[in-house]
Amino acid sequence: MEKMIYLKDVVTLQLNEKNCSGCGMCVVVCPHAVLSMNNGKVQIENRDSCMECGACAMNCPTHAVTVQAGVGCAAAVINAALGRDGACCCVVEPSGDSENNRGKICC
Ligand code: SF4
Ligand code: SF4
Repeated sequence: MEKMIYLKDVVTLQLNEKNCSGCGMCVVVCPHAVLSMNNGKVQIENRDSCMECGACAMNCPTHAVTVQAGVGCAAAVINAALGRDGACCCVVEPSGDSENNRGKICC
């Protein structure tokens, strides 16, 4: 399966593991499989795949996960759809067996 990625090392996603109760809600709602469970606590597995949609933070009962929603890729996609300025910022990583081995723009 192709993996969506965002610009490297710019995502505002933060995790405070001490506050995580291990409920798993953030893992369930994340559309890009950024988060995963590890020994009863959540971990950030694919940071650069985060589109800063804010769903994880909105559904975290302990505020262990935070993100500055509306500034990243999700905002760019919405702005592009509405004809506003703002280019889409993500690409799809090549699967490896593709004839075209270059990343594709996601939107
Ligand atoms: S902000 Fe959205 S994409 Fe990023 S980790 Fe949270 S739910 Fe996943
Ligand atoms: S929603 Fe919050 S408390 Fe629940 S697993 Fe995710 S970070 Fe931990």
